[in-house]
Amino acid sequence: MRLSDQPLISRKAIEARVAELASEVASHHGDGPLLMVVVLKGAAMFACDLMRKLPMPVTVEYVRASSYVGKRSSGEVDVDSLPAAGRVRGRRILLVEDILDTGYTISRLRAGLDRLKPARITLCTLLDKPSRRKTEVAADYVGFVIPDSFVVGYGLDYNEQYRQLPDVYALEDE
Ligand code: 5GP
Ligand code: MG
Repeated sequence: MRLSDQPLISRKAIEARVAELASEVASHHGDGPLLMVVVLKGAAMFACDLMRKLPMPVTVEYVRASSYVGKRSSGEVDVDSLPAAGRVRGRRILLVEDILDTGYTISRLRAGLDRLKPARITLCTLLDKPSRRKTEVAADYVGFVIPDSFVVGYGLDYNEQYRQLPDVYALEDE
């Protein structure tokens, strides 16, 4: 496996798009407080950049979900550590994900959060691979639509490697 020679999405493009996404979120949500629910580990870097651009009061919770082993979505999603119900009930939630692929992870998470009775859940994903979708889930805010290739960097990993890269790369077979 090797990284593509050029980034698929450069840090500059990411920075500009994150600022736009923050403006979109702000214009839809207004001044009211927002609870960001960030899906670990992949969305951590994106969420940190996004929250610094949001003008309203923001609180943050982190959840863990994993369905991927290597480059394959297993279809079985483990969700652990949903926030305590008291932190979610009646709140407006922005669910922050690194990438929407089959959609299984977000469907499971959304259902879990819904049971905690938030006022509303909107979904923000840095990347979207719509061609891979297996469930009916669409994001309210999408950073970049990408083709069906496996990507790493800016928080996204391959077997825990490459998360630290400031740009997003495709990972190619040698
Ligand atoms: P889904 O449940 O939508 O199939 O999978 C979503 C999760 O799979 C993402 O949160 C991410 O962790 C992982 N994933 C899906 N596609 C990719 C990819 O191209 N690269 C990396 N690094 N992870 C991916
Ligand atoms: Mg993920």
